[in-house]
Amino acid sequence: MKKHLLFLGAPGAGKGTQAELLSQNNSYLHLSTGELLRKEIEINTILGRQVKDIINSGELVSDELVLKIVRQNLDRDHNKKGWILDGYPRNLSQANSLNEVLNEINQPLEVVFYLDIPEEVLIKRLLLRGRKDDTEETIRTRVDIYKKTTEPLIQYFKDLSLLEYIDADRDLKTISSDIKQKMAG
Ligand code: ADP
Repeated sequence: MKKHLLFLGAPGAGKGTQAELLSQNNSYLHLSTGELLRKEIEINTILGRQVKDIINSGELVSDELVLKIVRQNLDRDHNKKGWILDGYPRNLSQANSLNEVLNEINQPLEVVFYLDIPEEVLIKRLLLRGRKDDTEETIRTRVDIYKKTTEPLIQYFKDLSLLEYIDADRDLKTISSDIKQKMAG
C-alpha cells in the first residue's frame, strides 16, 4: 500500500528538510513545488522565465501553473513507496484542485503533517538560509501571504481528519523521529 503524505507549514518551518529526510530513508518521491519551480528557473525554461520575478518578489505563482507542475509529476508510475508533497497546496483553491487530481488518479492523501513554529523563529531561520528569495522584504511578503492564504488550510485538513500536529521548534532529528513515529502508529 503506497503512502501519500503532505507537509504543511510556514516558509522556514522545515517542510523541505523533513520531507527530504523521510524520502531518503523510505524511498518516497519528494515533490516540492518550490524546488520544481526553482529548477525551471535554473534551466531557463519558458515556465522558468514566467515565474522568476514572481518568486523573487515572494508572491505566489498562479494556481494554474503550479497545478500543471503538480499534475505532471504525480501522474506517473514512479516505482516508489509513495509521495510526499511539500509547498502545495498553499490556498483553498489549490487544495480543491489537489483533491480533484487525487480523486482522478485514485491516490488519496493519508496524512498532513503540520509543522508548527513561532513566527520569530522562522524569520530568523529564513534570514540565515539566505536563498535568493530570502531577503527581509520578501520574507515579510511570504509570511503575510502564508498567514492570509495558507493558514486556513490547517482547519481544512483538520476537518478532513488528516492533520497531524508537529512541534517544529525542535532540532531536526527529534522532529524527524516524531514524524516517523506518527507514521508508524
Ligand atoms: P518557502 O516554503 O520557504 O516559501 P518554497 O520553496 O516552498 O519556499 O517556495 C518558494 C516560492 O515558490 C514561493 O514563495 C512561491 O513564489 C513559489 N511557490 C511554491 N509553491 C507554490 C504554490 N503551491 N503556489 C504558488 N506559488 C508557489
